[in-house]
Amino acid sequence: MRVLSVTSELFPLIKTGGLADVAGALPAALAAEGVAMRTLLPGYRSVLAKLGGPTEVARFAELMGGPARLLAEGPDLLLLDAPHLYDRPGNPYLGPDGKDWPDNAQRYAALAWVARELAFDLLPDWQPDVVHGHDWQGALAMVYLALAERARPATVLTIHNIAFQGIFPASLLTELRLPAAAFTMAGLEYYGQIGFLKGGLAYADRITTVSPTYAEEIMTPEFGMGLEGVLQMRAQDLVGIINGIDPAIWNPAKDEHLTAPYDSRKLAARGQNKAALQARFDLAVAPDAPLFCVVSRLTTQKGMDLLLAALPELTAGGGQLALLGAGDAELEAGFTAAMTSYPGQVGAVIGYDEGLSHLLQGGSDAILIPSRFEPCGLTQLYGLRYGCLPVVARVGGLADTVVDANDAALADGVATGLQFAPVTLAALRAVLARAMRLYRDRPAWQQMQQRAMSRQFDWTRPAKLYAALYRDAIERRGLPASAA
Ligand code: ADP
Repeated sequence: MRVLSVTSELFPLIKTGGLADVAGALPAALAAEGVAMRTLLPGYRSVLAKLGGPTEVARFAELMGGPARLLAEGPDLLLLDAPHLYDRPGNPYLGPDGKDWPDNAQRYAALAWVARELAFDLLPDWQPDVVHGHDWQGALAMVYLALAERARPATVLTIHNIAFQGIFPASLLTELRLPAAAFTMAGLEYYGQIGFLKGGLAYADRITTVSPTYAEEIMTPEFGMGLEGVLQMRAQDLVGIINGIDPAIWNPAKDEHLTAPYDSRKLAARGQNKAALQARFDLAVAPDAPLFCVVSRLTTQKGMDLLLAALPELTAGGGQLALLGAGDAELEAGFTAAMTSYPGQVGAVIGYDEGLSHLLQGGSDAILIPSRFEPCGLTQLYGLRYGCLPVVARVGGLADTVVDANDAALADGVATGLQFAPVTLAALRAVLARAMRLYRDRPAWQQMQQRAMSRQFDWTRPAKLYAALYRDAIERRGLPASAA
């Protein structure tokens, strides 16, 4: 079976969030399921600079305002080289002023248009059985294909975060090669504008998101961000598949970022990592103080404002916080100031540091994730694998992957962390107190750590689920699947 993945990010070439990790991991994971995946990615300046020697496989005289070429790097990576759209510095989506690039509609419509051409006969020797688009940037491929009125592959659209929807003025319809007939409530139209994600959700054969709970949540007004209606209509075609993590990169027994690597039988070695962290974050080097960590974008989505407000209780209970993150200026300033207010108990590093994020998982007792919404979440999965017990809001993928240490779960020996709900300051305070109480029961805490570390969250299961979904989408369209 052949699948074309259409994405705006791909680890390790270009990453701003979890989408890059998923798009990067899927091809290898799916190969084991007999799926041959090729990935179509914009030829951003920084990406082309990293490539060896891509070869030209197709040309477009005119694509959304200029000439373009399709390049191939290795057997499975296709890059859309369109200098007028992608030859720019910095972030894929934002200009140097921190605002969206003004031509983002054309930039990602072009990507989707080329996916459409690949789905037909742009390459004489390779046509996909399925086109799998990611987020609003890949969503228009679903629309172009559905409107093409010719035999086409099956289409699948994955929502990684419904907060980003790709909404643009209706005046762009013709320029974006979209027929006026599709500008209806059942199609592309979204409150008088063009909704890329909305259109994709209306036209894709199948829709996925990155956890079963988030799949349920986005059908409600609280989480659907205006798209709950269209998702309710597509409920039969919507499924949640939890992301995997790479067990080679996230392995506490072989992690070069740790002071002392360890496994679940040698948990005592975590103490050395904890001491290293306490020194690095200017915290009191106290082996018995419950050390909470945060590795996160500093935003209200992540509940970081609540955590800031809960610091009096966290510190009064004898807890410590080591925070690594960057984001909203106000939150950055808040956590920086907290270092002065709670010397030796609160430490913060403002910035992005992959290595330090590993040490935080390997040395902290618990990781705090008080998100207001969380489509899947990765840091709780790393936490489980590292015995850094996740203390999480009961939303989205957090609800699906952490088993709360309530009395029944403790008695049954199945708890792997703590959950709290609703996402309020009072509930966060209560869960922090509960975590610190549990921590004092060292044998019980250690059992939870060992159990958490034994949970499997690699890509084996998600890959099987995606492969089954592709097969189902092909069958429903009545298409035969190609052999490879
Ligand atoms: P989101 O994609 O919403 O930001 P996820 O939990 O799905 O949240 O993924 C975040 C990823 O980014 C994780 O791999 C996490 O370890 C990493 N990360 C976030 N902030 C930092 C940081 N400041 N330094 C290092 N890694 C970070």
